[in-house]
Amino acid sequence: MIANTPFSQKLKAPFLKRQISVLQVNLGKICNLACTHCHVEASPTRTEELTPEICQQLIEVINRFPQIQTVDLTGGAPEMLYGFRPLVKAAREQDREVIVRSNLTIYFEKGYDDIPEFFARNQVRVVASMPCYLEDNVDKMRGKGVFDLSIQALQWLNRLGYGSDPHLVLDLVYNPPLPTSNKFSLAPNQQSLQEAYKAHLQKHFGIVFNSLFTITNLPIGRSKFHLRHRKLEEEYSQFLESHFNSDTLEHVMCRNQLSVDYQGNIYDCDFNQMENLPARLPHGEALTISKVLELGDLDVIQEIQTDDYCYGCTAGSGSSCGGALL
Ligand code: SF4
Ligand code: SF4
Repeated sequence: MIANTPFSQKLKAPFLKRQISVLQVNLGKICNLACTHCHVEASPTRTEELTPEICQQLIEVINRFPQIQTVDLTGGAPEMLYGFRPLVKAAREQDREVIVRSNLTIYFEKGYDDIPEFFARNQVRVVASMPCYLEDNVDKMRGKGVFDLSIQALQWLNRLGYGSDPHLVLDLVYNPPLPTSNKFSLAPNQQSLQEAYKAHLQKHFGIVFNSLFTITNLPIGRSKFHLRHRKLEEEYSQFLESHFNSDTLEHVMCRNQLSVDYQGNIYDCDFNQMENLPARLPHGEALTISKVLELGDLDVIQEIQTDDYCYGCTAGSGSSCGGALL
């Protein structure tokens, strides 16, 4: 990313980690889709996924550290990846909240049609990608037919009680389309967009859901290549920088989360994971899940590692895996 002022210089105080309460695990890069905005660059041809050894270490971390309130599973399509069900079960046995970042369409692939029932049985909170409530926009970003399947999947989840039973939470995620010219904009107001989504999905498809999260596209992964290809990377980066809002810094997701990759390496967030910027111990050593177990402590990172794409999380109302920050 090409910012006028490096992000680190915008920080008036050290960017410190707080007590860890969220363990996010990226189980790998295999996915049944290959979306244009995917920062993981996941697709059906990828092969990387969790190993039994790392899965076991993660279960040990969940069991040993009650301070972990939430286990957040992502990918790729997490449902397709090694370790998905054992991690859900381990976390639920310890009464932790489990979030799965689901692309919805996977339930229609062979071998995965029991997934919605598995979610409901384990009271997994489903956070589902739905970049728009209009068919054309979704199919352009995610592939032909994805909108239809997503609607069917949401109706399926609704039939199981998702969106109405307080124990079965269903949230949707909105990503703005990737820019094709320099007319950039931040994600629309989350509350107003949520109302529009709710009205449209209820009226046309009888769908209910809990919350909508708006997430800014960071210039990393496929979004970076898209922008670079159109010679927009620099301008987009500077656009994000020009909307920097220091009030968001208190709330960014990296403050209280560890993001673990399929090889057991630890990062401050999923974006740093995708850009290979590992979390570090104060003396500089890169942190891993086995190191955490050896130290017997989750709170071993002092400063969060940043790069200029952090302007994406801190522009306007801010952006995180849980949507707007302010
Ligand atoms: S954005 Fe999600 S659904 Fe799309 S390719 Fe990436 S991991 Fe798969
Ligand atoms: S990309 Fe966002 S979440 Fe990650 S370190 Fe930067 S500000 Fe924090």
